[in-house]
Amino acid sequence: MYINGQWRKTPTTFPVVNPATGKELAKVADAGPKETREAIAAAASVLPTWSATTTYDRSAYLYTAHQRMLANADELARLMTEEQGKPLKAAHTEVRYGADFLLWFAEEAKRIYGETIPSSRSNQRFLVQRQPVGVVGAITPWNYPISMITRKIAPALAAGCSVVLKPAEKTPLCAMRLFEIFDSVGLPPGVLNLITAADPAPIGYELCTNPHVRKITFTGSTAVGRRLATDAAPQLKRVSMELGGHAPFIVFPDADPVHAAKGAALVKFLNTGQACICPNRIYVHRRLLAPFLDTFARRIASMQAGSGLQDGVTIGPLVNQAALDKVMRQVEDALAKGATLLAGGKRLTGNQLERGFFYAPTLLSDVTPEMTIYREETFGPVAAVIPFDDHDDIIAMANDTDYGLAAYIYTSDMNTALRTFEQLQFGMVGINDINPTSAAAPFGGIQQSGLGREGARAGLEEYLDTKVAGIALT
Ligand code: ADP
Repeated sequence: MYINGQWRKTPTTFPVVNPATGKELAKVADAGPKETREAIAAAASVLPTWSATTTYDRSAYLYTAHQRMLANADELARLMTEEQGKPLKAAHTEVRYGADFLLWFAEEAKRIYGETIPSSRSNQRFLVQRQPVGVVGAITPWNYPISMITRKIAPALAAGCSVVLKPAEKTPLCAMRLFEIFDSVGLPPGVLNLITAADPAPIGYELCTNPHVRKITFTGSTAVGRRLATDAAPQLKRVSMELGGHAPFIVFPDADPVHAAKGAALVKFLNTGQACICPNRIYVHRRLLAPFLDTFARRIASMQAGSGLQDGVTIGPLVNQAALDKVMRQVEDALAKGATLLAGGKRLTGNQLERGFFYAPTLLSDVTPEMTIYREETFGPVAAVIPFDDHDDIIAMANDTDYGLAAYIYTSDMNTALRTFEQLQFGMVGINDINPTSAAAPFGGIQQSGLGREGARAGLEEYLDTKVAGIALT
């Protein structure tokens, strides 16, 4: 734990395990509500001085943190691979993506502008200023154990907020290493606090109900997000929620099926399918089905599963047995209801893979709305292809979900691209592009995929309140 600028231990600890090998990596502090209250008190007590620093001061901290993070990128990436499982190259990409938020918000910090507004009264002026919301309670997931932290901490610091962070219990080591970097930057004690815990629920409840906390920012499942938003509601705390997704990936008949299949395979198997923006329903026009499936299956054949520290490995393990069980259940259900298995479809064993939670990259075609995989987020390496015909209302099919995070469309027609973009009920749309994300672009969903945005200018707004002065002149 890191509270008020001090690293602290707890009498009890919990183990952190490498999901590729099942080996214990370390034991970390197991905090409870009492330590969380101490961290909140520290964050609350530094708030008046911290929020009174200039945006230039806060920007300077963020610039330094950005440089230190990049200087330590190799070590951070390696730790991430060991703790979370993604291949080393992907871990490096995430570290750079995570560092991008520090740089972006170091720059944005200086642009926390207010405004003046004309009044209908000739002797009145309105002056609008932005102020930090106050103490922030942040809860982050294990699938992107570094970038999800900087995506919250960087704008919070830029705005002048102090933070109590609870990282996922599966990946506290990445959070701890990141906090060591922040510690080295010389932030005033109490500005950033880290609570590690085996049981997230009491920590989450304390953050949501403690009156000193004015904002909750969360990335994780829709079920937990709903719980936290409910607990935060009586005190009307601000909330930002980055929740689950069920992304459609539409390949229109005028698309290049090979290009689309390569893109689909890349984003589907990102982080072994454990990303909220992974496509879960791949709609391919029947005319392009054969070349699409052929290219996709070839991509799968070239993938190699294993420990992410080994050269050439492109597919890491799933996070735990529950994740493996969910994938197996979805595939079994789809096959029982008539899906066609074109690749994978089983747990991977041999070569010591059975020590981890490996599932073969899988390609299913002829997926239909009756199958669980059509409705439920997979969070694993299974591509579900749904062929469609000219008479199908593809927009209605894609929108037929309560989620609304990412969507992808492949077409060579500008009209189709723009019209579909406007009609899809999703917060982020890739158009012939599988990566609509960047520190500069607003990340977030609509409907049950969340509230608020991270990154971009919008990401800073989440940590600012608006205050107006009406001034009467004499
Ligand atoms: P995932 O399915 O990605 O594990 P979760 O929503 O369970 O998603 O986890 C995301 C984050 O939410 C983690 O930091 C986890 O510890 C935390 N979390 C899970 N359950 C709760 C809860 N009841 N209260 C607060 N935080 C929780």
